[in-house]
Amino acid sequence: MSECLFCRIRDGEIPAKLVYQDDRVVAFRDINPQAPTHVLVIPRKHIASLDAASGEDEGVLGHLNLVAARLARDEKLSGFRTVINNGAEAGQSVWHVHLHLLGGRPMRWPPG
Ligand code: AMP
Repeated sequence: MSECLFCRIRDGEIPAKLVYQDDRVVAFRDINPQAPTHVLVIPRKHIASLDAASGEDEGVLGHLNLVAARLARDEKLSGFRTVINNGAEAGQSVWHVHLHLLGGRPMRWPPG
């Protein structure tokens, strides 16, 4: 059994509110939402962080972004933000690449 939380969600071993899945990515609602819509999109492949990705991951990382945009349309978001935290200093707490899709409220800049 994997020790990675998001691999376990991918495999259905830990429950999550799935909103989308295909052969390359899985998307589910964040357990501690920071906006009315807060969805995490993960690659099925375990990649610990963005800077651990390699050239062979280029396709799935692009797909991650396009899926986020499609989900934002599905949720009828007029604006949205995508975030990938990389490394502890940037706030990464789960070591499986994930794209945060946030929307449904005004966003400030710069982010905290
Ligand atoms: P990050 O801090 O960028 O690594 O993001 C990790 C995200 O995973 C946080 O926003 C958490 O709220 C979220 N999270 C942690 N555990 C779960 C879980 N079991 N189901 C859904 N989201 C989770």
